[in-house]
Amino acid sequence: MSALQSASAKGQPAAAGPYDVVVVGAGFAGMYMLHRLRQQGLSARVYEQGGDVGGTWYWNRYPGARCDVESMQYSYSFDEELQQQWEWSERYAPQPEILKYANHVADRFNLRSDIQLNTRVDRAEFDESTNSWSVTTSDGKTVTARYVVLATGCLSNAKMPDIKGLSDFKGRVYHTGHWPHEEIDFTGQRVGVIGTGSSGIQSVPVIAEQASHLTVFQRTANFSIPARNAALTAEERDSFRANYPEIRRIAREEMRNGIVQEVPDRGALDDGENERRERFEARWSKGGLTFMGVYNNLAFDQAANDTAADFVRDKIAEIVKDPQTAKLLQPNDHPIGSKRICIDTDYFATFNRPNVTLVDIKSDPITEILPHAVRTSAKEIEVDALVLATGFDAMTGSVAKIDIRGRNGQTLNQKWAEGPRTYLGLMSAGFPNLFIITGPGSPSVLSNMIVSIEQHVEWIADCIAHMRDRDLVAIEASRDAEDRWVAHVNEVAHTTLYPQANSWYMGANIPGKPQIFMPYIGGVGLYRQICNDVAAKGYEGFAMTAAEPMQRAAS
Ligand code: NAP
Repeated sequence: MSALQSASAKGQPAAAGPYDVVVVGAGFAGMYMLHRLRQQGLSARVYEQGGDVGGTWYWNRYPGARCDVESMQYSYSFDEELQQQWEWSERYAPQPEILKYANHVADRFNLRSDIQLNTRVDRAEFDESTNSWSVTTSDGKTVTARYVVLATGCLSNAKMPDIKGLSDFKGRVYHTGHWPHEEIDFTGQRVGVIGTGSSGIQSVPVIAEQASHLTVFQRTANFSIPARNAALTAEERDSFRANYPEIRRIAREEMRNGIVQEVPDRGALDDGENERRERFEARWSKGGLTFMGVYNNLAFDQAANDTAADFVRDKIAEIVKDPQTAKLLQPNDHPIGSKRICIDTDYFATFNRPNVTLVDIKSDPITEILPHAVRTSAKEIEVDALVLATGFDAMTGSVAKIDIRGRNGQTLNQKWAEGPRTYLGLMSAGFPNLFIITGPGSPSVLSNMIVSIEQHVEWIADCIAHMRDRDLVAIEASRDAEDRWVAHVNEVAHTTLYPQANSWYMGANIPGKPQIFMPYIGGVGLYRQICNDVAAKGYEGFAMTAAEPMQRAAS
């Protein structure tokens, strides 16, 4: 037993370390990581900057926030009793319910004693002489751990827009990704929403019901599909529960995005126009993310993609009564699905309300925020409150905020200056014993996040167990394996239409960020197989270091 493991063997994790593992973040990834490590008898400390567990669901409390993956599938599968007992109320769970679920998991598995809330990890430095990390937190303390796991989330670093005068605005300013905890009531207020991605599209219909007037500032129109949310019936829940083992297996192994759905057997151009329209209609009526799964080539073939995009543009024109507003709401600068498709409840119909106005800030840009108004080049719009639905520095933003120093003092930010480089999204060469959950180079944001989180957590836990059993003290991705993986991720991305969009997948929403398609688009099934094969071949592509004989004798 190593010195780093001894704390847990005494039954109690030491308060001040050293730990076997430091986990950064207590969202769905960090919580499950902690649970798995404890099951293996390892000591772990989780640091969470928020005031409670839940990660993305702790921060994103904006009106209308709910998951766009169906609740029966957006849930942990690792514990049979948990998945049998938890009662999801709706097809798509609202944010408060998902947060309640996260809290339930923390309590049920007694996780809280090893989670330190309200604490940021500021710095992590690898010590090559001891093969361990020194981790410094915002409370000024430093602990050591053999391993660090970054469970920092992919959409957790909210991006404030750089708009002149914003700080002088006299009303309240809210970012959807940093929503206050108290109830916000916009009744009687003139509200401006800037941004029309998933967060804006979910919040606009709800805010419109409260506000005396809502102005939506849209730079880029987005494709959105109706959610068709509804209460789950007992039969629906029971049917999932009875079939969970098979449903979870299919999600993990057979579905590209980890969401069980019908698999298309043909491309869009294999059908005639009438049949195609019927199929699109059927998916539109069903609602949700599976719209893009109606044909097997929408992500690859521009002509096929155009048929789906035209269908949605026609729907927008049907729903929105004012033709000029409808035209502005019709996306026309990217293939459908190449930016994360949005799922809405009455988004387009909201623009038929007399108290809602759309301002196209592509043709009439915001020039300045005044104390009580938004000024565009053509007009001045008075507002009492501003909602910024302006997104995140995705996938790398939260990692970049930590000063991570690997071999020879190199920082991860230096290494990733031209874009993130990882092997399997799990590790980066030069940074031994540092794992990333759902990192760039893994399916991550292109998948049902919980499916991907569970796969990464289990792979990392197995890897640590493998090392412990063999007295290995360090694991590191080789440059060669990393280079090949980065090239593969890039190559696969460029067989699709995704790189054509200025999306956050590409880093395009952050000025100066390298434009590289960050997630791995090969699908969760194939990716899982690759990860399993790598492990089965003795962690091929990773270098592992044995403990010094002295260290081994002492353990
Ligand atoms: P987003 O998709 O990045 O959208 C940000 C919006 O803000 C875009 O319309 C963008 O316009 C606009 N914007 C950014 N900076 C601006 C500026 N300076 N001036 C004017 N407009 C500006 O962010 P998001 O809506 O928060 O969604 C991010 C991701 O989170 C989603 O894609 C999804 O994966 C996830 N999410 C999921 C759910 C769900 O499960 N239902 C809900 C919310 C979010 P441009 O497009 O022109 O840049």
